[in-house]
Amino acid sequence: MAPTIIDGKAVAQRVRAEVAQGVAEFFKRTGQRPGLATVLVGDDPASAVYVANKRKACEEVGIEGFHRELSADASQGEVAEVLEELNAMAEVSGILLQLPAPQQIDDDAMVALIDPAKDVDGLSAINAGLLAQGRPGLRPCTPSGVIELLDAYEIAIEGAQAVVLGRSQLVGRPLAALLIERNATVTVCHSRTRDLAGVCAGADILIAAVGVPKMVTAEFIKPGATVIDVGINRTEAGLVGDVDFQSAKTRAGAITPVPGGVGPMTIACLLRNTLLAAQEASARGLR
Ligand code: NDP
Repeated sequence: MAPTIIDGKAVAQRVRAEVAQGVAEFFKRTGQRPGLATVLVGDDPASAVYVANKRKACEEVGIEGFHRELSADASQGEVAEVLEELNAMAEVSGILLQLPAPQQIDDDAMVALIDPAKDVDGLSAINAGLLAQGRPGLRPCTPSGVIELLDAYEIAIEGAQAVVLGRSQLVGRPLAALLIERNATVTVCHSRTRDLAGVCAGADILIAAVGVPKMVTAEFIKPGATVIDVGINRTEAGLVGDVDFQSAKTRAGAITPVPGGVGPMTIACLLRNTLLAAQEASARGLR
């Protein structure tokens, strides 16, 4: 039987509409709009496109955009100064430092300077620690987007065997923590995992975040399993995921395409985090 194709564009559109409504309600109540500050250091074309997309998405849902650009040779001190300025601005609810920054900048050190209450990427040690401890905090966007997709398609997480392929700070680790929070039984695989295909083939939910084009084939997949492909790989054949879609769809019960699966969810969850940060700041009387 043909698998269900999980439509990330449609789910992201729904999340964006919910955020737009939340922003309108926030404005009605407070007379203010949530604000997202984007910080771009250097002139990497891909980073510039990502930031432009995020700013446009903010505008569409009524979030106020603040943008700071620093030259490719900016010093750590200069980046730090901008982040401190944004930390101090009450109208800025969230701060997004586009990564990776040029090599003279220590990304982790800069992220650590962002006020955890404004860390809408959820990547600071404070928010990562809160997630690891199962306490409330801002959650990373791509992993949150994966959970949202599973929920949108009513794929049961509780009690499921979930395998996460990849253990990065950005995707694999936080995703594993979110799945544990939702009572899945979670296995995390990486480059040293023995019998990768065999381990993956035990999964009810298999999530690939490795950055290796089309690595996951039918033999990795239990018949009927849900397969979520986080990978975005630019190849000569165009944009491909970490899952070999044609092979995987012969076994999967539900599967995300690339593009149009997890990708659109990341920005949608960033918008939602910005609204959540604004609501939290308002509840604490900071705005
Ligand atoms: P990283 O390179 O930081 O991490 C990759 C992980 O995969 C590592 O844990 C690594 O293991 C593991 N890995 C790599 N090769 C293999 C292999 N052959 N077998 C088993 N495990 C392997 O990548 P990210 O987590 O940042 O990103 C993963 C993918 O997701 C990329 O394609 C990226 O472009 C995409 N992405 C998509 C987003 C979206 O919005 N859809 C957002 C963020 C990322 P080890 O730890 O042992 O080295």
